[in-house]
Amino acid sequence: MSALPPGSTIGILGGGQLGRMLAIAAAQLGFDVCIFTDEPDSPASRVAAKTMVGNYLDHAALADFARRVQVVTTEFENIPAETAQALIDAGARVAPTPAALAIAQDRFDEKSYFLSAAIQTPPFKAISSQDDLDAAIAEIGAPAILKTRRLGYDGRGQIRIKTLADAQGAYEKLGAPGILEGFCAFEREVSIIAARGIDGSIAFYDLNENEHSGGILSRTTLPAQVSEPTIVEAQKAARNVLEAFDYVGALTIEFFVMPDGSLIANEMAPRVHNSGHWTIEGALTSQFEQHIRAIAGWPLGPTTRTANIEMLNLIGEDANAWPQLAADPTARLHLYGKRDARAGRKMGHVTKLKLS
Ligand code: AMP
Repeated sequence: MSALPPGSTIGILGGGQLGRMLAIAAAQLGFDVCIFTDEPDSPASRVAAKTMVGNYLDHAALADFARRVQVVTTEFENIPAETAQALIDAGARVAPTPAALAIAQDRFDEKSYFLSAAIQTPPFKAISSQDDLDAAIAEIGAPAILKTRRLGYDGRGQIRIKTLADAQGAYEKLGAPGILEGFCAFEREVSIIAARGIDGSIAFYDLNENEHSGGILSRTTLPAQVSEPTIVEAQKAARNVLEAFDYVGALTIEFFVMPDGSLIANEMAPRVHNSGHWTIEGALTSQFEQHIRAIAGWPLGPTTRTANIEMLNLIGEDANAWPQLAADPTARLHLYGKRDARAGRKMGHVTKLKLS
């Protein structure tokens, strides 16, 4: 495929903050964006040239969307496989590949895939009954975490099993097919964001060090406090996944760093990621621009980090502090334009650059 010229239209499935920041980056390169979302008045649609509001399973609406855009990408991984297929059937080019989206939608498939690609995972078992859970707990032991296989994010759909007694009735509470994972006594959490271009070139960003609160990312700092071999291992894992899927676009893998510096993969996201928001101000090419460059068939941009970084998520009512944050010369403020600040909802973020 030759590079899409400026003036082409990029289709984005999903209307959240990632779509919003992708749309802003696309506009900067001279593209128009058409958002397809099931949410009226979404954060992304308010900065995009066009929006189609429809159901992700409405084939006629998807075919119409496919006709209006030159490439389709997604800002969230839980796009039904049927949606991606309907778009391909309607002639759309979809990047990243639906196979990568499908793997990332199911925690069991994802962890099985990691093992097949020589990427370490916590011990895990598929759970579809209380009997499965009891057997898995007997094998893996406590503490452990029971998660839904599908549709979990930001710590939702998870039950911590601290002692064997916590396993009683836990399958019913989960209410859906699950996966039991051994608890990793990690030293820190990191993520790697990498991108692969249409020509197969790969670019890595520096590792993000991430802190979570209640299962939601709260703070990312760079440089991550890890050794060179850990960085090399993360890059190798990302390269394996990108090449195995003939992937085009940005990809994120989250890891636990164990006390000996080895990495255990938690999950992957076939998209830009919250832990990479700092790249808007702190890298020569933001993760959003990088993704747009990749899917448009443009050369990847340089990923060099220009400062030490602290990125803080504004969750729920945190965003009410916008007057103080706006007045803080050390904080670059981003607000996502969400209408109501529900608890646990990502409303914005601030990035602090420490220039040395
Ligand atoms: P997840 O939704 O799977 O990304 O989990 C959210 C957060 O819960 C992770 O970032 C970790 O802080 C914690 N967590 C999830 N799985 C495990 C595990 N197997 N061992 C230890 N902590 C975990």
